[in-house]
Amino acid sequence: MFDTLSDRLTSVLKNLRGKGRLSDADIDSTCREIRIALLEADVALPVVRAFIAQIKERAKGAEVSQALNPAQQVVKIVDEELVAILGGETRRLNLAKNPPSVILLAGLQGAGKTTLAGKLAKWLRGQGHTPLLVACDLQRPNAVTQLQVVGEQAGVPVYAPEPGNGVGNPVEVARQSILEAERAQHDIVLVDTAGRLGVDEEMMRQAADIRDAVSPDEILFVLDAMVGQDAVNTAEAFRDGVGFTGVVLTKLDGDARGGAALSVRHVTGQPILFASNGEKLDDFDVFHPDRMASRILGMGDVLSLIEQAEQHFDQEQAEKAAHKIGSGELTLEDFLEQMLAIRKMGPIANLLGMLPGAGQMKDQLADFDEKSLDRMQAIIRGMTPAERADPKIINASRRLRISRGSGVAVSDVNDLVTRFFDARKMMQQMAGRFGM
Ligand code: GDP
Repeated sequence: MFDTLSDRLTSVLKNLRGKGRLSDADIDSTCREIRIALLEADVALPVVRAFIAQIKERAKGAEVSQALNPAQQVVKIVDEELVAILGGETRRLNLAKNPPSVILLAGLQGAGKTTLAGKLAKWLRGQGHTPLLVACDLQRPNAVTQLQVVGEQAGVPVYAPEPGNGVGNPVEVARQSILEAERAQHDIVLVDTAGRLGVDEEMMRQAADIRDAVSPDEILFVLDAMVGQDAVNTAEAFRDGVGFTGVVLTKLDGDARGGAALSVRHVTGQPILFASNGEKLDDFDVFHPDRMASRILGMGDVLSLIEQAEQHFDQEQAEKAAHKIGSGELTLEDFLEQMLAIRKMGPIANLLGMLPGAGQMKDQLADFDEKSLDRMQAIIRGMTPAERADPKIINASRRLRISRGSGVAVSDVNDLVTRFFDARKMMQQMAGRFGM
């Protein structure tokens, strides 16, 4: 999901790198490419229009930022607009003050309602709730059995009409299930309703009748994210026919282009609450617009780094350091200053963990020894200003003094000084290459 869109957006935004200033023409052409990428991903046209208009307006009006270069600024704007289009804040379930809360699931057949009922039941149970699953899909053969199977997997009881009890009346089953929940003290009732392959009046009427019988606290519209453009029409039909308070996207693990996910919030005005991404009961999570946006942008949590850089950025200090690196004048004093500035942003392992590809280095990150940084800090602090400015003067007796003063072994002091010289040489070479 989103792979193609992600690749396209990443490459469009990469083209901006290295530009010192963005002209209006740069912004126009970037917007044009973003527009094509979104349309190719099946995002609904009104959504694309609104999105592009926002990006253009904000990018052209963007203030000159000292912390971010123009490309980063556009990335930030695109990210923020993606978050907005996906709903902004994470929306939690609304539960009733007086239990049981009632959650009604509606959607087309095959959207993943029954599977979702099991997932949601298991998740709620994990949150300390005592849900009851209710089988009101009495149309599809096997729907009741299927719910019983997922209920068992989820460890949640299922309320269903007795087998052999004729077709049954789903509205009545729903009504009775509330009494059962009160009796057996279930705090949440999850009602699975019937779907059809296409939108039809009778299905809508039945869902609306169940709704009226149980006054749900939430009506969740379950939407298969694999269905492209048609998703928007289905969502509108359900909004008008039954109404819903939130959306659940299913099959996000598929290779759909992502248009439904990006359009549904804007088109229906209702937030996405959960996302389903596989057939197993655990393939399910709360939907976080911000995380989804950075996934679409394919930039790991680079965006959080941008944000933190903005918060902690000190232009003067950075320029001073860059100059010193280039001219080989970097001292241990500067080194200490830089280290403190970076550590202000949080534990180094967390910062490294935000870089794309960091997932593969999880083990190394877990081993990252924050204490070695403490040790380095202590050693530099144990030096005199003259030693920090010119580490070459640190002879054997100075090393001994520093190691005693900072409570480390002499070899630690040796290590630091050697590594500092190596690092300075390497940085100077790199700076030369990049023309700093
Ligand atoms: P319902 O008719 O709306 O109740 O849909 P079902 O729950 O029976 O799901 C229809 C099919 O989609 C089943 O084969 C499910 O295993 C599958 N399914 C449901 N959710 C997901 C999902 O998130 N990812 C994938 N890959 N398959 C899913």
